Amino acid sequence: MGEQSHRLRQAVQKRAARAKKRMHSITADSAKSFFRRNAFVLFTIAAVLLGMASLDGRASGKMGMRAVVYYMVTTIIAVFIGILMVIIIHPGKGSKDKLHREGRIEQVQTTDAFMDLVRNMFPPNLVEACFKQYKTQYSVLTFEEVIPIPGSANGVNALGLVVFSMCFGLVIGSMKQKGRALREFFNCLNEAIMRLVAIIIWYAPVGIMFLIAGKILEMDDLAVMGGQLGMYTLTVIVGLLIHALCILPLLYFIVTHRNPWVFIAGLLQALITALGTSSSSATLPITFRCLEENNGVDRRITRFVLPVGATINMDGTALYEALAAIFIAQVNNYELDFGQIITISITATAASIGAAGIPQAGLVTMVIVLTSVGLPTEDITLIIAVDWFLDRLRTTTNVLGDSLGAGIVEHLSRHELDAQDCELGNSVIEEK
Ligand code: ASP
Repeated sequence: MGEQSHRLRQAVQKRAARAKKRMHSITADSAKSFFRRNAFVLFTIAAVLLGMASLDGRASGKMGMRAVVYYMVTTIIAVFIGILMVIIIHPGKGSKDKLHREGRIEQVQTTDAFMDLVRNMFPPNLVEACFKQYKTQYSVLTFEEVIPIPGSANGVNALGLVVFSMCFGLVIGSMKQKGRALREFFNCLNEAIMRLVAIIIWYAPVGIMFLIAGKILEMDDLAVMGGQLGMYTLTVIVGLLIHALCILPLLYFIVTHRNPWVFIAGLLQALITALGTSSSSATLPITFRCLEENNGVDRRITRFVLPVGATINMDGTALYEALAAIFIAQVNNYELDFGQIITISITATAASIGAAGIPQAGLVTMVIVLTSVGLPTEDITLIIAVDWFLDRLRTTTNVLGDSLGAGIVEHLSRHELDAQDCELGNSVIEEK
């Protein structure tokens, strides 16, 4: 009886796999390949590069440095919290999908993985980086060769491209007028890719429907996935709450010695708008108003810190991307080594910098994180169902991070602001 049901299950699974394959070829495959290689490479270069280049000019001087240090520190803390939460709570446990049980790939030592990480960070040939990742001799076999993972873009050296784009972006940003043509070029490229993505997104629901249907057919027990997804949602919420309600206010208090809750109360309207729109950019005008009118933050600071912050400082997105990538690995029973977790931290930081302040942008840039460690990019569909909700929460965290950052930078820059005020006052007196 047991044997019979086992065979029956195997037959059903085989048929489901065939059906899924067919569905894929009709629907999602073309979109997937587009995202996997073409859009991914162009998008990574253009979006990350622009994020860094937007620091141009405005980032010069002490204020810019302070803002950048704040962005980096809080983003890294957010990624760390995300990783910690997903490892402690382990929402992906219980999956019977053993994708990575054996094979030579497991022989890779942590040192090998770490050396690969460093080598991949600085690709000797950029064009080659679009097709090839560096692997030690122990792992000459790619994941696809050991166990076929559909859709894993293991061949793209995502990390190398991200690091290059970040450095190149910083250099272009520092070139001021001379770098204008290049900035405009990448701006157009970014815009064009985003438009292309927008077209594909029209057709995405059909593909997503089939992908989810395929995934459900693969699942032994739907309740397991329901439970996993519920735990995943809870893990993201706990992580975001810790970051937004403990870490950020504490940081604000340590630096300014002011009550963070009074500051946050002044931001309420902006936070509600972020929750409603899922977009930091759409919330920007309200954030300006709350900071300037309710909290009395200097306009020179808000105009300088907020627009850059809305594009590159996304603590909620970074936390979510690292957490979601590890969750996807857990669901696939794919054990990540230390080097891969570091890769996830770096790419999640970069992907949050590259994400635009628009609804679900983090979901698109997550491809960078998944690709960097060879996880199946189409498994993003597993978490799409709850993303509309989590997006609102991470956007609210993003807006809160930008706003508290403006308060911190203002406090640290008060001497320069006072000096500027004095100079201005003197020149007015002289004119009179
Ligand atoms: N919606 C987020 C924002 O606008 C970005 C994301 O998708 O994480 O800040």
